[in-house]
Amino acid sequence: MADPYGFLKHPRKDAKKRPAAERLDDWHEVYARVDPEVRDREVRTQATRCMDCGIPFCHSGSAGCPLGNLIPEWNDLVRRGDWALASDRLHATNNFPEFTGKLCPAPCEAACVLAISHDAGGAVTIKRVEETIADVSWEQGLVQPWQSHVSSGKRVAVVGSGPAGLAAAQQLTRAGHEVTVYERDDRLGGLLRYGIPEFKMEKKVLDRRLAQLRREGTKFVTGCEVGVDLTVEQLREQFDAVVLAVGALRGRDDTTTPGRELKGIHLAMEHLVPANRACEGDGPSAIDAAGKHVVIIGGGDTGADCYGTASRQGAASVLQLDQYPQPPSQRDDARSPWPVWPWILRTYPAHEEAGERKFAVAVEKFIGDDEGHVRQIQLRKVRVEKDASGRRQVVPTSEEVEVLPADLVLLAIGFEGVEHMPLLDGLGIKLTTRGTISCGSDWQTQAPGVFVCGDAHRGASLVVWAIAEGRSVANAVDRFLTGSSDLPSPVIPN
Ligand code: SF4
Repeated sequence: MADPYGFLKHPRKDAKKRPAAERLDDWHEVYARVDPEVRDREVRTQATRCMDCGIPFCHSGSAGCPLGNLIPEWNDLVRRGDWALASDRLHATNNFPEFTGKLCPAPCEAACVLAISHDAGGAVTIKRVEETIADVSWEQGLVQPWQSHVSSGKRVAVVGSGPAGLAAAQQLTRAGHEVTVYERDDRLGGLLRYGIPEFKMEKKVLDRRLAQLRREGTKFVTGCEVGVDLTVEQLREQFDAVVLAVGALRGRDDTTTPGRELKGIHLAMEHLVPANRACEGDGPSAIDAAGKHVVIIGGGDTGADCYGTASRQGAASVLQLDQYPQPPSQRDDARSPWPVWPWILRTYPAHEEAGERKFAVAVEKFIGDDEGHVRQIQLRKVRVEKDASGRRQVVPTSEEVEVLPADLVLLAIGFEGVEHMPLLDGLGIKLTTRGTISCGSDWQTQAPGVFVCGDAHRGASLVVWAIAEGRSVANAVDRFLTGSSDLPSPVIPN
């Protein structure tokens, strides 16, 4: 049984990071590799902090884990050192715990009861426990292909090989369907491959999981744009159901700030994709920050990815701008609102390495040189508020402006939904006003037999939501093809 006083005996201890200077010298993951024995001992102690709450807010609900991860259960198994059963219980709800363990901002930790009070010492290190279970699972050979013993004789096409598409494909293959995943890029993984930097998750982590899917029988086709290289007619003829997991990669642009047309101003993905390709050995990045004064506009995950990437490329300086004020830390926020934990997590490891952040500021002008290349930005202090109709407004709060150097500006201000693609036209699917693909309660789009999941349905979101939607759409497709399904369905369409 869990020790209800464990959190009083053991302070929260996060995983050890490598020294910042060492991290900047390579592209390897930020977190240090520690002796497995030491790691396992520390994580077992951390798992002891879990109180096995009567109502575990971490586990599900509006604030907790969308996958319904059995967090108190595997915390207890880890505490007892039963890694094999912990692995089994973790994989029961999550196809790819190594992805979430490394990439998810952990809404479960925000929802943990121990995040309420300063005296409790902070949430249970759920993410660290999850990642360690995943690591031990691979180290001990506990992750094996699951061979389906049934064959439905039905064929399913999954379009897109990001986390949502891969989760849907794995579930459907295991349910006995013949699944082919189509990827328009030359390599599999979607955002996991070309969006997420190597220092957050090394690509070999993705590749070993893809190998498992292959051995289970999922087929993959790369370099194929469905709707072009494989026509909609062929798609319809060859498959009984189609899952759209095409992501929401249309980057939001800045259409109003004077000087946006200058050279040297790019959307974040225009920086991240070639940088990731360079790590894959595809040659130097087309947009390289070496020796440049880099300004990143936008304070979220993607901005932090650009920040760490620019620092590793050898930028002369890196500055990240956020229109919102600096979030309080748990220690200095006297009101102690719950949850306060995610606000702390808005500081990413990349911010400890180099560079600077400015809060409550906005660029009001990009300033170029005679060649039409950006060289400076003009900033003003602002606050964000809502007008009478509830629309977001950015209001200047100072007469003073600040002019700073900027040779490379990266816009990390969000995504506007699904990219335009012939496939959607061919299927007769129209996007919502949010730029996403809508569906009914059975995840089916306007096109019969065509389903949607992940960012394409939800809008740009967390990897954990992508996996949860991929698992849920698999249940819906299985039901569509066979009349019933035993596959889990952790979430419903929004
Ligand atoms: Fe454990 Fe926190 Fe979940 Fe409670 S809310 S069961 S303490 S992880």
